[in-house]
Amino acid sequence: MKTVKINDENIGQLLGRSQIDSDSVMNIVNNILSDVKNNGDESLRQYTEKFDGVDLKDFLIKEEELKESLSKIEDDLVGSLKQAASNIRKFHQAQLPQDWSMEVDEGITAGQIVRPLERVGCYIPGGRAVYPSSILMTVIPAKVAGVDEIICCTPPGPDGKVEDIVLAAAYLAGADKVYRVGGAQAIAALAYGTQTIPAVDKIVGPGNVFVTAAKKMVYGQVDIDFPAGPSEVLIIADETGNPDYITLDLLAQAEHDPQAASVLVTTSPELARSVETKIKEKLPQMKRDQIITESLQENGKIILAGSLDEAVNFSNAYAPEHLMIMTRDPEEVVKYIKNAGSIFLGNLTPVAAGDYGSGTNHVLPTSFCARMYSGLSTESFLKKPTVQRLSREGLENLKDVVIPLAEYEGLYAHAESFKKRLDDE
Ligand code: NAD
Repeated sequence: MKTVKINDENIGQLLGRSQIDSDSVMNIVNNILSDVKNNGDESLRQYTEKFDGVDLKDFLIKEEELKESLSKIEDDLVGSLKQAASNIRKFHQAQLPQDWSMEVDEGITAGQIVRPLERVGCYIPGGRAVYPSSILMTVIPAKVAGVDEIICCTPPGPDGKVEDIVLAAAYLAGADKVYRVGGAQAIAALAYGTQTIPAVDKIVGPGNVFVTAAKKMVYGQVDIDFPAGPSEVLIIADETGNPDYITLDLLAQAEHDPQAASVLVTTSPELARSVETKIKEKLPQMKRDQIITESLQENGKIILAGSLDEAVNFSNAYAPEHLMIMTRDPEEVVKYIKNAGSIFLGNLTPVAAGDYGSGTNHVLPTSFCARMYSGLSTESFLKKPTVQRLSREGLENLKDVVIPLAEYEGLYAHAESFKKRLDDE
């Protein structure tokens, strides 16, 4: 990675990064969606054989198998899952909003009640790696929100099995049902329902390009969280940033995926030089060096900013999924942050903390989407119907609003429904 200075000419290119190209698979995904919609389980069977290499008779994982999975993994890992689950639960409980109501004007009370979605689907990716943490991050917020039925779908391996640690995480998080089915066919099953998988109200969770395209295409039939693209980190650092930590944070993000993006924006030329050198030294020692090399070549950047203001403005335009602030006073800098999925303050707070156990959610908006989306949260699984009640005084107070406006819009029955109540006084 070479250090570059921000200027008017290169800013567009510096903001760029790999995007998920779900348009390129729209036709394939469209066919999968309509097959599953029309032929249900039979299509799930055929696509699972085609893409996952296994002919399954039954997709549902039995409850006993979920429970038994706990005894099949190492005690230490069970301990890690439990501690992570406890922190995630605590954090998401704090996000629970309350019912509220107020007197808008005399005789007019209005407020909101908070209600959970009834049934949700959590997609847990499982093609190239195992993601027990993604189960915790999707199921626990739904559970805290009070969702009645939480269904997980995850692809089976070629032996038809799902890793014990994924099942253990599902059990600990409180999933109601886990189905061995992945890809666009799983999204179709969750959106339309099949003979064995019930249709849900919302589908959440990350996945590959087929999963993302399918989620976009069923949006409207069901709700979705947001389209997920390759993972990203942007680090804002001044001369107090620790170059060893920054080097590892950039490498850590890059090891996710050849398309992941790792960006350092610093006001310190010495820090930029030091990180550049340390990356060269450290990279060959990393286990996933191939993926990291590709990712850094494509989307890795060290950027020299003229001031902290310039660094912050760049970060706001980049709208990173993960933002790390390693400056003398990170709390002061965070006041000016407008767009970021999750923010990590100070030298001692790696993104890995949020990925696994600080309690915050790791399902976050990528590819500029932090401009308009927040990450997954308890609120993602809630609805907030509004409630109002008028007294006679309230009717009087609103009559000069409702009657003229309704009549102006030609909605005479609206006006009459109001007048009748006033007349009955
Ligand atoms: P996946 O579960 O998303 O996809 C596997 C499924 O893709 C297979 O079951 C199959 O049905 C389908 N598929 C594969 N090839 C296909 C083809 N040619 N045509 C149609 N369908 C096909 O698992 P994955 O592929 O490993 O991808 C996981 C993704 O999730 C990665 O990009 C990873 O970075 C991301 N991820 C993100 C987070 C996060 O929080 N942002 C967490 C974990 C994983």
